[in-house]
Amino acid sequence: MNEKNKNYNQQAEIIRLARKIAKEQIAPQASESDRKGTFPWEAIRAIGKVELPALVFSEKEGGLGEGRAIFTSVVQELAKACASTALIYISHVVLAKAIEISGNDGLKKKWLPDLSKCKALGAVAVHEPDAGSNAGAISTQAIKDGDSYIVNGSKFFITSGGEANAYLTLVRTDPEKGLNGMSTLLVEKGTPGLSFGQAEEKMGLRSTSSREMFFKDCRIPAENLIGDEGGGLQVIGKSLIGWGFYGASAISIGIAKAALDKATQHARERTIAGQPIGIHQGVQFLLSDMILGSETADAYLTACASEADAVPGTVALNGFKAKLYASEMAIEVTNKAIQLMGGHGYCQNNIVERLFRDARGLTLHFKTSEWLRQDIAKAALKI
Ligand SMILES: Cc1cc2nc3c(=O)[nH]c(=O)nc-3n(C[C@H](O)[C@H](O)[C@H](O)COP(=O)(O)OP(=O)(O)OC[C@H]3O[C@@H](n4cnc5c(N)ncnc54)[C@H](O)[C@@H]3O)c2cc1C
Repeated sequence: MNEKNKNYNQQAEIIRLARKIAKEQIAPQASESDRKGTFPWEAIRAIGKVELPALVFSEKEGGLGEGRAIFTSVVQELAKACASTALIYISHVVLAKAIEISGNDGLKKKWLPDLSKCKALGAVAVHEPDAGSNAGAISTQAIKDGDSYIVNGSKFFITSGGEANAYLTLVRTDPEKGLNGMSTLLVEKGTPGLSFGQAEEKMGLRSTSSREMFFKDCRIPAENLIGDEGGGLQVIGKSLIGWGFYGASAISIGIAKAALDKATQHARERTIAGQPIGIHQGVQFLLSDMILGSETADAYLTACASEADAVPGTVALNGFKAKLYASEMAIEVTNKAIQLMGGHGYCQNNIVERLFRDARGLTLHFKTSEWLRQDIAKAALKI
């Protein structure tokens, strides 16, 4: 078997495995976790048992060295079953990739083995109440004190907040240096002075435990610095932008595909006056728009991810474009799925209702659509 076939078989096997876990172990708990707003630990353990996070670690760090194209296929499978679980998974991968790409040997040795099995859970703490999507405006400060940094400030809306063990935290280490005065620290749960707010009662993605984080004179060992001091935005670029935006795009597509499957089944099975509603042109129009929306976004994400895997200079812009397109598509597709299903689609015991609420969060998450549109246009205008 040549190398190309071997890789292809490995990749097909990974996707099959993700689909099986999603269907058998993640989907059955998704609606209940959503309703109760409980963190899906069983789903996370199932992901960890087969070491799904390690699929994107380099082979040197004990992973399979797969790129974004396979990562996004796996995330889609998870998101079809439970978008909250998929969001927790991608946040975890972002922290792990930051350590793998930019962390020192001590951090890699301490964290990567447990992160690959989800024995430790990772999360990302960038955004702040007064900064919104503008990571350059954060004010959480880390002042060097001997072999430590003393951190003060707060973060908000942190996925897996209070549940995760390790947080990729963007801080300001030198206020004089603007964007070059920002750094990333690994902040461990249990650090004295670190506390969490109440979980937000969100409209969707309700099992993700979004919490505010408060840092009061938290002493963080200097060896928890990820990357160089002053190089925080580069670390975020390689991990959050490099992987998180692709993962978020894939969540939207997974949500849309799940809604499409459900709506198609409904159009076949729901009969009125003895005839399935799918025979009506109006229903067919809804369905065909949903098919084209999700397939176009999927093909576009695959193209963006494959190019990013091959050409590092395209990573950020391709991720922005894929996320913008996929997240807006998922709102349209899930909205149409509800329309197609009539009153049935509007009820809480129907998964399209959850899918619509989940899709809504993804044009806000990480960078809002408005920021993405501006970034995409500025790149074209070279300004
Ligand atoms: C489900 C979910 C999960 C999240 N998980 C995490 C996480 O794990 N870690 C983390 O760090 N953060 C997380 N966030 C936070 C998220 O990144 C922010 O909510 C997002 O960046 C927007 O910030 P904001 O909510 O403060 O909106 P604001 O910044 O207040 O924006 C409000 C509106 O103003 C617009 N706007 C603001 N400034 C501009 C501008 N300069 N130009 C044009 N339009 C502008 C926005 O586009 C938006 O429409 C999460 C958010 C959600 C919804």
